Amino acid sequence: MDAQSAPDGLNFELPEEIRMLKDAVRKFVDRELIPIERTARENNKLKPEVRKHLTAKAKELGLQGYDVPVEYGGLGMGLVAKATVWAELGRSIALPSRGADVFGPNVSPILYHLNDEQKKKYLLPTIRGELNWCLAQTEPEAGGDPGGMRTTAVREGDHYVINGTKRFITNADEAHFTQLVAATDRSKGSRGGISAFIVDMKSPGVKLLRAQELVIDDRPWEIAFDNVKVPVEDRIGEEGEGFAHAQHWLNVGRIRHGARSIGVIERCLELGTKYAKERVTFGKPLADRQAVQWMLAESFMEMHQLRLMVYDAAWKYDQGRDIRAEAYMAKIFGDTQSFHAADRCMEIHGGMGLATDLPIEKFWRDQRSMMITEGPIEILKMTLARHVLRTYG
Ligand SMILES: Cc1cc2nc3c(=O)[nH]c(=O)nc-3n(C[C@H](O)[C@H](O)[C@H](O)COP(=O)(O)OP(=O)(O)OC[C@H]3O[C@@H](n4cnc5c(N)ncnc54)[C@H](O)[C@@H]3O)c2cc1C
Repeated sequence: MDAQSAPDGLNFELPEEIRMLKDAVRKFVDRELIPIERTARENNKLKPEVRKHLTAKAKELGLQGYDVPVEYGGLGMGLVAKATVWAELGRSIALPSRGADVFGPNVSPILYHLNDEQKKKYLLPTIRGELNWCLAQTEPEAGGDPGGMRTTAVREGDHYVINGTKRFITNADEAHFTQLVAATDRSKGSRGGISAFIVDMKSPGVKLLRAQELVIDDRPWEIAFDNVKVPVEDRIGEEGEGFAHAQHWLNVGRIRHGARSIGVIERCLELGTKYAKERVTFGKPLADRQAVQWMLAESFMEMHQLRLMVYDAAWKYDQGRDIRAEAYMAKIFGDTQSFHAADRCMEIHGGMGLATDLPIEKFWRDQRSMMITEGPIEILKMTLARHVLRTYG
């Protein structure tokens, strides 16, 4: 009896339409992205002509707005389908590793928590590509532990007054508004003391201080908020709910990390096996050496494990189930193992592994950074351990 006909059997096959999606995105990556991946960017951003060309190609492919819900004119893909797209795109370094807007604007899920008035003012123009946003949560003294944030929002009648400094804010220089997370009650920390707001970047008192140079393409900004007045109607949800909104977004983001990592490992396997077969040392191809074979075998096993983890989590999410633990695991395992895969691929290539002609060194830098951003691995493990202790204690 095969898996399809076994009534109680598990079925790990992707549905037909998602297999077709996977094939289509793979072709797009092979034909449009990989050939230009080392020349597509200038000054850490996609070149405008490349963005224009790829946006047109993405439209042809029917992928425009894949991340936008149907009720807002997008394709409204489920998480299994989105994970498939992210995994395929992960095979190339052509697009920025954080946010590839050639498929339509990036619309943070926090924006879907807005009320109707706010949606009209911010969400719909963002979907139409008229407004850009950034998310300002991290601070110089509170990153992985947002409960310790010092930026305050103090209510004074019909508005809040915001004071503080945010750091590492991606795209702040291009943003029309920021989704700002600030403390409304510092004594409560992340348990009801943090609220989210929409703040116009042109508001008096908002000042871009400096862009941070990094070993990756992103140049996130430090921003000062000096007595910035925000009307009460620009608060997102109720006071004290800011952290919960951000958490919902982060869950999906963690699956994105895991899915992207599948693509990174796969490309590193493609590059690593090809080179290992071609490169001869001491009279034999590298592929004949056990030390090299084991590196490839490890990455292959980890890619398979990661696929199962990511698709299991995405499927559960699409069923409306709580995937917090699965999302933590997908990010921890995916970011870590994709970095290891890039590292092994670099080792197999010897000096060429460090060359900027090949994508390996960029995968290596990017995947190392992923182990820190949107929650460092150690902090995610700490939170996952709480779940383990509750479950088995
Ligand atoms: C490229 C880039 C883009 C970013 N974009 C944004 C953005 O758009 N918006 C935004 O708000 N933020 C953004 N960030 C911030 C990012 O999310 C934070 O840097 C990240 O959450 C880590 O915070 P931190 O740097 O303050 O590290 P900390 O929280 O100070 O942690 C430092 C290190 O200590 C260790 N550690 C911390 N706590 C524990 C613990 N409990 N147990 C064990 N070890 C621990 C970890 O190894 C961690 O890496 C960005 C950062 C980068 C680098």
